[in-house]
Amino acid sequence: MCGIVGYVGKRPAAPILVEGLHRLEYRGYDSAGLATPEAGGLRVIKTEGRVQQLRNLIKEEIPAAVGIAHTRWATHGEPSDANAHPHLDSAGRIALVHNGIIENSDRLRAQLTAEGVSFASETDTEALAHLIGRLMAAEDAPSLEEAVRAALSRVEGTYGIVVLDRDNPDHLVVARNGSPIVLGIGEGEMFVASDVAALVRHTQQVVYLDDGELAVVRSDEFHTSTLAVEASPVVKSPTTVDLVADDYELGGSTDFMSKEIHEQPTALARALSGRLNERFATAHLGGINMEPRELRAIRRVKFLGCGSSYYAGQMGAQLVEELARIPADAEPASEFRYRNPVVEADTLYVALSQSGETLDTLAAAQELKRKGGQLLGVVNVVGSAIARECGSGIFLHAGPEVSVASTKALTNTATSLAMLGLLLGRVRDLSTADGKRIVAGLRRLPEQVAEILAQEQAVAQVAARFADTRSMFFVGRVRGWPVAREGAQKLKEISYVHAEAYQASELKHGPLALIDNTMPTVIVVPDDELLSKNIGTIEEIKARSGAVIAVTNAELPAGLVDAELRVPRNETELDPILFTIPLQLFAYHLAAKLGRDIDRPRNLAKSVTVE
Ligand code: GLU
Repeated sequence: MCGIVGYVGKRPAAPILVEGLHRLEYRGYDSAGLATPEAGGLRVIKTEGRVQQLRNLIKEEIPAAVGIAHTRWATHGEPSDANAHPHLDSAGRIALVHNGIIENSDRLRAQLTAEGVSFASETDTEALAHLIGRLMAAEDAPSLEEAVRAALSRVEGTYGIVVLDRDNPDHLVVARNGSPIVLGIGEGEMFVASDVAALVRHTQQVVYLDDGELAVVRSDEFHTSTLAVEASPVVKSPTTVDLVADDYELGGSTDFMSKEIHEQPTALARALSGRLNERFATAHLGGINMEPRELRAIRRVKFLGCGSSYYAGQMGAQLVEELARIPADAEPASEFRYRNPVVEADTLYVALSQSGETLDTLAAAQELKRKGGQLLGVVNVVGSAIARECGSGIFLHAGPEVSVASTKALTNTATSLAMLGLLLGRVRDLSTADGKRIVAGLRRLPEQVAEILAQEQAVAQVAARFADTRSMFFVGRVRGWPVAREGAQKLKEISYVHAEAYQASELKHGPLALIDNTMPTVIVVPDDELLSKNIGTIEEIKARSGAVIAVTNAELPAGLVDAELRVPRNETELDPILFTIPLQLFAYHLAAKLGRDIDRPRNLAKSVTVE
C-alpha cells in the first residue's frame, strides 16, 4: 500500500522522484525517502513524516539521473527515520524499496544476525537488502538481477520491490509478487511506480508487471522475465493509459474527499453511459461475456470485497435478490479466502475493489479461479491485478479516487451492481414494466445526487451540532442496513469518532442498553414498507433520551427527530445509493469540524495491498 517510484534516464532523478511520491502519498504517508548514486556511494535521504518533510531535507541539487523512492505504511516497526525506506545492505552498495510484507523476515533476520550482519532498522524489508548485498559481495559475484532472483527465492510473503546498485547505476531491478508494480516508458527514460498516478505526468505508455515477474529497466529498454532462478523471458508490450496528470490534481477543492464527493454526479453518469437499454428495459454490460442462457443458469450470487467495497456488495446483494430473485449475499474477501470456502459451479462470484489491487480480494479471486468458480470483477482501475485476474466484469469509470475514504467508487459500485441485478432480473421474471421503472430510476440518479450535494451546508450544520459526540450508533433495516454500516465506517475512518452500525431491528436485543443523552443515533429511514418499524425504533431511542438524526425521504411526524438529512425519492430498490450520499457529507463535515487531516486519516492508506 506504500508508494514506490523509480527513475532511470537523462534528467536529475530527485525532483521526479519527490513529485512522484507526492502523487502517491495517499497510499501511505508515515515516512518517505529516496536513494540516488553519488561518487563513491549512495546518497540516502529519508525521514519520518510526509513527503513535504523529505522535500525540505533536500537542500541542494542532486545530479544523479537514476534513483528510487518510497512512502511507507508501516507494517514492521514504528514510523521512524531509521525504519523509512530505502534500506541498504551492510556494505552500503545496494538500496531497496519495498511494498508488502516479508513473512519469514524473523527467520531471515536471525540467520543473518548469526552470520554477523547488524541491522539498522526494525523492518522486514532490511533482511532482503542484506540478502541481496551479501550475494553481491561474493567473489564470483552475480549480477544484480541474479542476486535479486536468488534472494527472493528465500523470501516468503508479498512484495513489489525496486533495487538500485551503486556500482552499476545504469539500471534498476524490479520484481512483483502480490504488490503492484508498473513501468512507465518514456523517450530515453524509464519510470517505475506502484501506481500509474506517479507516471501520467511523464508518459501514458505503461507495462504492468504480473505476480512472479521481474524486470531489468534501463533508460532506453526493459526486459521482463519470470522470477524463478531458472528464469524464462516474458514478452510484454506497453498499453496506453487513459489518464492525465490533471486527474490527480485538487483543482479548486480543499481536499480530495470533497472533490470526489462532488464529482459523483458526473462519475455516476459515466458509469451509466451506454449501459441502459430502454427497448428491452435492461442493462447492457459489455464486459460480462455471458450469454442469456448462462446468466439464467446462475443460482446464487456472492459479492466479495473489503471495507466500503464489502458494504457496496451488501447493497448489491439486496438489489440482486429484489430484482432477480436469486439468493445473494456479501462477505468480506479477507475472511472468505481463509475459510476453505465451498465453491459452487452455479454461483456467480463477484470481486469488488476500487483499486483492483486489494490483496485480500485478489487472493479470494485467485482461490475461486483455482476451484473453477465463475468470477466477475467490479473494479475502478483498468489494468489492475483483479481486473486482469477476473478477465470479465464491470469497470466503474469513477475516475481516479485519491481520498482514502471511498465515496464516488462506492456509489459507482452500488450502481453497477444495480445494473447487474437488472440484467439478471430481466433474463428471469422481472417484468418489462419493472425493468423500465428501474432503468428510469437509474437515469435519474446523477441529478438526484447533485440535488443532495446542493444541501451540503444544511448537512454541515447538523454535523457541527454533533461534533463533540464521543460515540454514535448508525442503524437501518434491510436496504438501510448496509447504508448504516457504510455511514459508520465513513465517520470513524476520517473523524476517529467511535461509530457502530446495527440493524435497527437488533437494537432492542442488546445495544439499546447504551442509549442515553450522550449517545446519538443516525437512522436510515426510507419511505418504504418498513417505515412504521423505523418510526417505532426512533420512539424507543427517544424514550431513552437518545438524540436521533434521520436520513430520510419520508414525511416524518413533526418533532419526531432532532435533525433530518433529506434525500429525494426514487425507486425504493435504489434507495441505498442515494441514502449513502448525505452520510458522506455528514462524516466529512464532522471530521472537518474536528480539524482532522481528511485525505490522510491516521493509520490508514489507500489500496490495501498487504494482509
Ligand atoms: N513491510 C515494510 C515496512 O514495514 C513495507 C511496508 C509498506 O508497504 O510501506 O517497512
